Amino acid sequence: DLSPAELNDFLAAKRAAYQALQGRGLKLDLTRGKPSAAQLDLADGLLKLPTSISDADGVDVRNYGGLTGIRQIREIFAELLWVEPEQVIAGGNSSLTMMHDCLVQMLLHGPVDGQPWVGQPIKFVCPVPGYDRHFTMLASYGIEMLPVPMEADGPDVAAIEALVKDDPMVKGMWIVPTYANPVGSTISHEKAALLAAMPTAAADFKIFWDNAYAFHHLTEEEAKSEDIISLCSAAGNPNRPIMFASTSKITYAGAGVAVLAASSANVGWYQKHYQYASIGPDKVNQLRHVQFFTNAQGVRDHMVKHREILAPKFAAVDAALTAELAGLGVAEWTKPTGGYFVNLDVVDGTAGRVVQLAKEAGIVLTPAGASFPHGHDPRDRNIRLAPSFPVLEEVETAMAGVATCVALAAAEELSG
Ligand code: PLP
Repeated sequence: DLSPAELNDFLAAKRAAYQALQGRGLKLDLTRGKPSAAQLDLADGLLKLPTSISDADGVDVRNYGGLTGIRQIREIFAELLWVEPEQVIAGGNSSLTMMHDCLVQMLLHGPVDGQPWVGQPIKFVCPVPGYDRHFTMLASYGIEMLPVPMEADGPDVAAIEALVKDDPMVKGMWIVPTYANPVGSTISHEKAALLAAMPTAAADFKIFWDNAYAFHHLTEEEAKSEDIISLCSAAGNPNRPIMFASTSKITYAGAGVAVLAASSANVGWYQKHYQYASIGPDKVNQLRHVQFFTNAQGVRDHMVKHREILAPKFAAVDAALTAELAGLGVAEWTKPTGGYFVNLDVVDGTAGRVVQLAKEAGIVLTPAGASFPHGHDPRDRNIRLAPSFPVLEEVETAMAGVATCVALAAAEELSG
């Protein structure tokens, strides 16, 4: 609602601010949701563990065997994820690898309740914006992606129900249920119950329930993850969900422990195929984690230390965006209460321009559209901000610069 003359003045002011920004010779990176060095330091006690070579059952963890992982780590995760220890498999360091294993086994051998998916034009429902690696994994196997909007209380379930009810080729969906990457929302109980019970044309429909941020609270008000396994079981679809989590953003991102949790039939199915791929996971690392945390409460207590490092960075993102952009009507952003990202929506058609402007001012952002299938945001408005890795001062500087770029791109667009 600015007059053409006012808009011109605004554009000139933002150009000047941008020139000053460029003149500072910054070199900052807000691209990846990696833990910072200070967060990794919190887990350095691991480097002196384990202090024994046997687990509580007397198993020599240095040797082969134990495909499901050691009992104590399964117990800790079972308590954290509200499932039974027998429903948990503790694997290697990456939950993404476990998701990939599940997908490939479903393609080649078929899920526990269906025929192999390979050779058919199968499709997956993908809430957007979402986690880029979920989408690139599907793309690598030529699986068609059906985007549905992500909302403040989880994905648009009515849209999902419409996609799955008649088409037997819609075989599955991704969801990051807690503090989703990148929008930060947590699925409501009502929506989780609907996903558990919804009729699907595919009898072997699967929910890949990626609970990567289940314990990653940014405030004292801690979201509780929905128990999708019990909900699906109660709805008569016990084999629908497979839940994933890991300690990648709890201990070491490159050397944590990943887990899968599911119905006993799904757990048996996973083991049946996995026995051909491994003689057992890294049990030394699993025991190290058990000794480091002692129990589930130890994990929760540890996450408070992460929160103390991360919360000020998220506050800095909000402060910088508010200072420059509040009230202008050119941007909306999330104020997440957990997870690793801030979702920034700018004026339609300018996200790519914002990322380019930022780059030319020495601030690297995640490519525009990265949170959409095939990297294509139809409105070119979405930017994922990842403030965890840089130190606080860098987050402050980078975000002030990003806010300038958002305002300049909007002024350019609106003045034609
Ligand atoms: N799932 C989500 C939603 C993520 O954001 C990430 C990492 O950014 C991962 C999974 C990776 O998990 P892992 O390190 O256990 O493979």
